[in-house]
Amino acid sequence: MLPRRAFLAACASTAFAAAASRPNILLVVVDDLGYRDLGFQGATDAKSPHIDALAKSGIRCTNAYVSHPFCSPTRAGMLTGRYQQRFGHENNPVYNPNDEVSGLPTDQITIAQTLQSAGYRTGHIGKWHLGAAPKFHPLKRGFDESYGFLGGGHQYFTAQMEGRPAEYLTPLERNGKPEKFEGYLTDRLSDEAAAFIQQRDAKQPWFLYVAYNAPHTPQQVGDPYLSRFPGVASDQRKKLDAMVAAVDDGIGRILATLKQRNMDRDTLIFFLSDNGGPIGINGSDNAPLRGAKGQLYEGGIRVPFVVRWPRRLKPGAYQQPIISLDIFATAAAAAGAKPAVLDSVDLLPFLSGKNKSAPHKHLFWRTGGGVQWAIREGRYKLVRRRGVAPELYDLEADIAESKDLAAAQPEIVQRLEAALSAWDRELIPPVFAGPPPNPGKKK
Ligand code: CA
Repeated sequence: MLPRRAFLAACASTAFAAAASRPNILLVVVDDLGYRDLGFQGATDAKSPHIDALAKSGIRCTNAYVSHPFCSPTRAGMLTGRYQQRFGHENNPVYNPNDEVSGLPTDQITIAQTLQSAGYRTGHIGKWHLGAAPKFHPLKRGFDESYGFLGGGHQYFTAQMEGRPAEYLTPLERNGKPEKFEGYLTDRLSDEAAAFIQQRDAKQPWFLYVAYNAPHTPQQVGDPYLSRFPGVASDQRKKLDAMVAAVDDGIGRILATLKQRNMDRDTLIFFLSDNGGPIGINGSDNAPLRGAKGQLYEGGIRVPFVVRWPRRLKPGAYQQPIISLDIFATAAAAAGAKPAVLDSVDLLPFLSGKNKSAPHKHLFWRTGGGVQWAIREGRYKLVRRRGVAPELYDLEADIAESKDLAAAQPEIVQRLEAALSAWDRELIPPVFAGPPPNPGKKK
């Protein structure tokens, strides 16, 4: 039998080993960022040194998708690890605290709930957009702490309120209680993320979901960010670059805080945009991809995507198709929790090179309960719109989806149509409609 002091030391070291083997998990999502709006994605005007460094020291996933071409459904799929059409979350919810239907259905398990049950301290910062009724609140969906706003966007300065939907004007809230904020919203969210990390006890692993609303409209930004882009002629593009620079500064602060707390090697980080850029609206650029936010061409759903975990993953690029749904199983596996999740694949064996096969045979998309569909299988992608003949593209040869091969390859069309229809039959109709068009919206 061990002497008491040695016994306690052994217990402490075992506890430490258990904690050390389970990484902290940081999920950073940006809003409406285009495919070529960051330095490592090929932007020549944008300045994103910290996100570029994150990509360089992590794994850049070059065929990475989100499960929807706009905000709320992507988040619903990402946080549950399931195609969100399986539970009818196929539209953006109306912002209405009295609406108990428009939001992420409460019978769906979130990654925050899973990690919370596994002993993680969980935090949400920024945009929610998964329902405004009390039952949909982040604190009810697995988060121990929450700071941000419940709607689909927000004004960035307290004083700039013109022409936006009411949900953009709500007070920010901390753990459900309204709280005034001063300064620039993107900076505030970064401060909160850094403070969350500062306050953590090294013995308890944590999960932090940081959902920046930048660079979603309204395009509100000032110095010090705007003045970094004197050579950018387009006012819209200059503001986009400046809003991205604010996010980048914030991510730099978050990464510096991780280093300072000696948590850098043991934190699993995901970084992605929630959909493609809405080109023409916020100055975003999806080149070389076709299309934009809202569409199932690559420009709507293929996004910048980085996974970084210095302890376990060597830096590099990963080229097999993956999807934002995979964040759930990957995070859960890293945490030692292995829930049965229908559509999500643990990417760790693939990203570490142990498994050389493709994580998914197929990836699927559907919008509006059946307005647009798409399926990807290997190099091929089929895009189908209601009332229009299906289109087929070879993405390895034609990333821009410029040459429709449907007429030349009818057997591939037939195979992908059959797989897509089989998936579609597993889905339910949307359980809530999207908000009506906003008359105050300028663009
Ligand atoms: Ca978005």
